[in-house]
Amino acid sequence: MDLIQKVKNRQRLTLQEGVALYDLDIFTLGKLADEIRQEKFGKKSYFNINRHINPTNVCADICKFCAYSASRKNPNQYTMTHEEVLDIATKAIQSGAKELHIVSAHNPNDGVEWYMGAFRKIKEKFPSTHIKAMTAAEVDFLHREHGLSYDEVLDLMIENGVDSMPGGGAEIFDEEIRDYLCKGKVTSSQWLEIHQKWHQRGKESNATMLFGHIESREHRIDHMLRLRDLQDKTGGFNAFIPLVYQRENNFLKVTKFLTAHEILKTYAISRILLDNIPHIKAYWATSTINLALIAQEFGADDLDGTIQKESIQSAAGAKSANGLAMDDFVAMIKNAGFIPVQRDSLYNELEVY
Ligand code: SF4
Repeated sequence: MDLIQKVKNRQRLTLQEGVALYDLDIFTLGKLADEIRQEKFGKKSYFNINRHINPTNVCADICKFCAYSASRKNPNQYTMTHEEVLDIATKAIQSGAKELHIVSAHNPNDGVEWYMGAFRKIKEKFPSTHIKAMTAAEVDFLHREHGLSYDEVLDLMIENGVDSMPGGGAEIFDEEIRDYLCKGKVTSSQWLEIHQKWHQRGKESNATMLFGHIESREHRIDHMLRLRDLQDKTGGFNAFIPLVYQRENNFLKVTKFLTAHEILKTYAISRILLDNIPHIKAYWATSTINLALIAQEFGADDLDGTIQKESIQSAAGAKSANGLAMDDFVAMIKNAGFIPVQRDSLYNELEVY
């Protein structure tokens, strides 16, 4: 059957068909993805008021694409105390943040309590604030470093106040590419296993894909289909976030960068292929806000949030260090012809603008 017709019939696509979607012209592909987006969410575009906190950049791992870790290209090593994390959290919550997105490097100098205590102290002070924390790569690091099982780490996260997991550390699942990018870090099957265990606890998470470096189109489709398979079993992913590779300050010698055309096609294809993951997020910190606004017409229904401050992508060249003001964010979504909807971390609607 004709590929376009298959998409219109909402039939599932194979790996080969997913790759073949890239051969469609961008307007046809965008329209197909937009039809699905509109079916699910109309013109609504979701965002939340969040604060990213990155408590340390000291890392035992050596991912080639990383510009954030102090063991790679970042000369400014730091590790926050619990009090410093709590202070940032307090200021963020007082200025309206409803979600704290806490992701750290893999710090071998601090124990499990350094990670968990920060969540616990925030939760004790602000019980209704949603804590999204600990990528599967961090969970695996605590397992490797301190001999805890994945189950033990995940249970500790819940006991100490973590509400949902971010999708980081997925990078690209293809084993050969992954070995080259970040050998030693959580493997693809371990990443999926950790999220499966998290979902089995009744909890939700995001899933990411880092693209635009040395991977092929086929690797991207393979990545999406591995997520689709797990989602069929658990239903626990609430959003898929294609992260555009940031090119500065790292050891990955990429010379050919993605065009906006290829990035938009990838958003659109993810909307078409991932028929069981509700939200496709154009994370503007990696795509730029301008492209994220256009991505709303290519299947994306979520623009993440105001961020307030961000250290990981901005270390590699992204213009996200200071986030965006809420009024500007809302105005930009409206001007692009969409309806801004402030959501909580689990996609309950809080305010329609
Ligand atoms: S990407 Fe994360 S795990 Fe890899 S080196 Fe950077 S901080 Fe460490």
